[in-house]
Amino acid sequence: MIQIKKVVVGDLEENCYIITNKNKTIIIDPGDDSQKIINKCKNHNVVGVLITHHHFDHVGALNEILNHYSISEEKFIEGFDYKILETPGHSKDSVTYYFYKDNIMFCGDFLFKDAIGRTDLPTGSDVEMKKSLEEISKYPDDTLLFPGHGLSTILGVEKDNFDYYYKNLNL
Ligand SMILES: [Zn+2]
Repeated sequence: MIQIKKVVVGDLEENCYIITNKNKTIIIDPGDDSQKIINKCKNHNVVGVLITHHHFDHVGALNEILNHYSISEEKFIEGFDYKILETPGHSKDSVTYYFYKDNIMFCGDFLFKDAIGRTDLPTGSDVEMKKSLEEISKYPDDTLLFPGHGLSTILGVEKDNFDYYYKNLNL
């Protein structure tokens, strides 16, 4: 069972998550306020950083965090059981980290409580957003979602909005 701490950082109130499994900790999306994040990680063995996508509000403190812990940004970090789901639409590089043993997803700005991410920014795509939503629909309804902004939610609840989203995308 992973433990999750949330730190809200920066002007855009981005959710940075601190994930601990046994004696190892990783940081997801260190968007700003590196000192605040480092303080929250006190007495933790920080071994890596995961990024959901490279918008400035998600990576603003990335270099400071990497330097502070002498670590590098990696895709696969040992000691954690997760899969990387490619979920473009908000941006080409958007991924969702699926911690399948705990049935938890960190979905960045792909999917929020009661909303989807903007698709009008560079490399955004309505067509890819729809594909990503269709893909995520295949996962269990009771999957917990931790988005890049705002409150966490449950996939089954969000699925009820998908038809509405499809109608409003330019496909
Ligand atoms: Zn973004």
